Amino acid sequence: MRPRAFTYHAPSSIAEVIDILEQHGAEARVLAGGQSLVPVMKLRLASPKHIVDITRVPALDLIRGDDGALLVGALATHEAIENSALVQAHCPVLAEAASHIADPIVRNRGTIGGNLCHADPAADFPLAAIALGAELIAAGRASSRAIPIDRFFAGFLTTALKPDEILTALRIPKPPPHSGGAHLKLSRRSNGLAIVGAAVMLAMDDDGNCTDVRVALAGMGPMPIRAAAAERALRGNRITQAVIVDAAALAPRQTDPPSDVHGSAEYRRTIAPVIVGRALKLAAERAGALL
Ligand SMILES: Cc1cc2nc3c(=O)[nH]c(=O)nc-3n(C[C@H](O)[C@H](O)[C@H](O)COP(=O)(O)OP(=O)(O)OC[C@H]3O[C@@H](n4cnc5c(N)ncnc54)[C@H](O)[C@@H]3O)c2cc1C
Repeated sequence: MRPRAFTYHAPSSIAEVIDILEQHGAEARVLAGGQSLVPVMKLRLASPKHIVDITRVPALDLIRGDDGALLVGALATHEAIENSALVQAHCPVLAEAASHIADPIVRNRGTIGGNLCHADPAADFPLAAIALGAELIAAGRASSRAIPIDRFFAGFLTTALKPDEILTALRIPKPPPHSGGAHLKLSRRSNGLAIVGAAVMLAMDDDGNCTDVRVALAGMGPMPIRAAAAERALRGNRITQAVIVDAAALAPRQTDPPSDVHGSAEYRRTIAPVIVGRALKLAAERAGALL
């Protein structure tokens, strides 16, 4: 199918973008890489009357240091993130997640902002952003605001952005010393959307005790979620194989996985501890743990 007719806007500043969004309200949709929006429009699951192409707004694709943190512009493509030396040095788990998305064609066009704003519960960047404790910078009419990633996803394909706001960047704090991360998923095709996915960031002290950990899950509910029970089982404990296995077994707690053509809810609950266990082990090894 073809999308319904729409008016195309190509603003060149954030102020112009906001003007158009304010003018057309719910009838307008932002277009970034088009890798999620265009298929949805072709299927006529969405038929916005106004498309606001933000790719001409300067500097939204920059990846740069920011007072010890890393700023990743909303228009940074999956490919740019995968291959950025800054990302690889500061938060390699984000580059790893990028490398697990789709194929080179999608990675060349898709943007991290679009991936996050689409809020697909099976997508990869939301997991890495949750594991890294990112803040999302949203620009509106009067000012910008920072939204903690834990408050960004509001439901299935829904975010905390207001209709007249756009995402401009992610701010990723510097991980502490002795920390490591990992992103893994089970998908039907290599680099397809996750049936179950996990991203983990884990930090430990000199004695190998877990000082902080964040575990994010995909495919286990209507939006990406944290595996809080698994995190609690690790925090403060010495990181061993046995502790990882026990923590990973708690990953399905307080989740609500769907049953669909890719797998039943029961299958997802069975797989989640395996994926989380492997991700935790990899993250612990990358943090320097001797398991
Ligand atoms: C064949 C295929 C396979 C894929 N496989 C995977 C996969 O394995 N893992 C995965 O995670 N993803 C996958 N995707 C999705 C892909 O990563 C998309 O690129 C991404 O989800 C959307 O990014 P985009 O820049 O293309 O956004 P668009 O499609 O342009 O926009 C997506 C949504 O976000 C909104 N939006 C975009 N940017 C902003 C912004 N800055 N501020 C506010 N709203 C904004 C749009 O209005 C729209 O609602 C796949 C896509 C395809 C086509």
